[in-house]
Amino acid sequence: MSEDEKRKRTAIIYADLERSALDTPSRIAMSLAGQNVLSRTISRLKQVQALDEIVVFCPADQQEKIRGLLDTNSVLVQGFNEPVPVSNRVKRRKWALSSWRGGIREATVFDEQSFTSEMVQFLRDRDNYTVLAVPAEAVLLAPELVEGLLEHHRKHGDEMRFTFCQAAPGLCGGAYRMDLLHELVLNKTYIGDLLNYSPENTQADLIVQECNYKVDPELYTSEFRYIADTERNFAGLQKLLEQMGDNPGTWDAKAIVALQQKQAQEVDILPREVEIEITTTPSLRIKGYPHRNDQERAQWSAGRKQMDLEIFKKIVEDLGQYDDICLTIGGVGEPLAHPELPKMIQAAKEAGIFGINIETDGRLLKGQVAQSLSESPVDVLSVYVDAHSRGLYRGIKGEDAFEEVVGQLAEYSETIKSNGPMIIPHLVKSRETMSEMEEFYDGWISKCGSAVIVGYNDYAGQIENYSVMNMCPPHRRPCRRVSRIMSILADGSVTICGQDFQGKSIVGNVGEKSMTDLWRANEMEELRKAHQQENFEINELCASCGEWHR
Ligand code: SF4
Repeated sequence: MSEDEKRKRTAIIYADLERSALDTPSRIAMSLAGQNVLSRTISRLKQVQALDEIVVFCPADQQEKIRGLLDTNSVLVQGFNEPVPVSNRVKRRKWALSSWRGGIREATVFDEQSFTSEMVQFLRDRDNYTVLAVPAEAVLLAPELVEGLLEHHRKHGDEMRFTFCQAAPGLCGGAYRMDLLHELVLNKTYIGDLLNYSPENTQADLIVQECNYKVDPELYTSEFRYIADTERNFAGLQKLLEQMGDNPGTWDAKAIVALQQKQAQEVDILPREVEIEITTTPSLRIKGYPHRNDQERAQWSAGRKQMDLEIFKKIVEDLGQYDDICLTIGGVGEPLAHPELPKMIQAAKEAGIFGINIETDGRLLKGQVAQSLSESPVDVLSVYVDAHSRGLYRGIKGEDAFEEVVGQLAEYSETIKSNGPMIIPHLVKSRETMSEMEEFYDGWISKCGSAVIVGYNDYAGQIENYSVMNMCPPHRRPCRRVSRIMSILADGSVTICGQDFQGKSIVGNVGEKSMTDLWRANEMEELRKAHQQENFEINELCASCGEWHR
């Protein structure tokens, strides 16, 4: 046996009967098309010839129950007393669950899993060289992809200590050399941190390097999470497995993705994201308040004032049916100006909302408001600074608040450290802001670890266009937002999408109908159908919109 062949390769899974890696309720013991989730994942892994061993880690007091879920003795189940924490990168992944990378600071699906020193020691004692980490709910893991990944890792593992592929989450895993896994645990860091851009450590994107086992584009453009760790994905996988018939083990990744593509035409009972405007109090966000003309602003909000707490509660309670819904509190107005914001945040968390993002201009991020946000379950504070100098700030926003906002942000970042919401300074890229864009980005990445540049939006021609250039791809496609994001205005009316800040295309009101009824309302279904048929003239906003591809 060659030295290379002696290198032991082990698949590891962390199984917990209480929670998933995302901190959603655990589904590993639930029956999915007649077989429990964990044993489905194991049966896919067992088809991989290149693996020497499969180890399931779990809390020590669950060891017997976990063993009972498996119909095989060939898998090692190992309990640990040391708690395995939820990865603190999950916060960054909430808005990008269906892609291998994305979300805040380009976190990856691999960052959702946590490892502990006890796991590393255990694997070292068993003389492992390579570890393949797989989610416990990867019920449609593709053995041929894993086989290819491990072979690629074997060939390039001397120079690249991590091998991944860009396939949609759940179709494959990530292969770590043991020494790398050990370093990550010691440094309390995650693989995505090494893949990401940093001004201090610029490098070519790792997707163009040998650590990427390249797969066909249809596998990474599939916008589905093949992991049964949320209500939505569990239901989607159930449908897929039912259609796959008696022998799902014979389906390869391409066939699975093609089948899912057909299924994706059906819209879920609730959106994955909801944008809520809770007030129309003026905001200095370019995105929220692009004009400096008070008269026009008054026309936009058409008499809408601020959202009633009870209406907000009704919304989030309706959404509680799913455990993966992300809320963005934004819209035309300034959310931090709503006196009942803390109660709204609490209501959202109690209702089981998965992710909460607040879009603000940052002027009120001080005193009691800042204190209450730092102790809240908000995941992200998107602060639209939009400039990197006092002059530009005043020029585009018409007010002299640059130093105040930047000072408050610095102070707030220092106060919350790693416990409170992530602060993400934003800049809307426009002809006016472009000159400060790079400085803004690198400056804030160094200061608070994150920064986002977003494209200018002229709201389907409703406001002046300051964009640098037209970013639309040459061929118009159906808009993905109509099947993913719901938009609610401050008076509770639901509109076709966030482009409609004037409420021209209302489909109903949350005070009168359930969120599911509104999401599946005839107007929405007709709009989706028209988009599928490439009829974009059906709505005047869609006809002039430049956001359909985002
Ligand atoms: S095409 Fe534009 S206006 Fe129409 S739904 Fe999509 S984002 Fe909204």
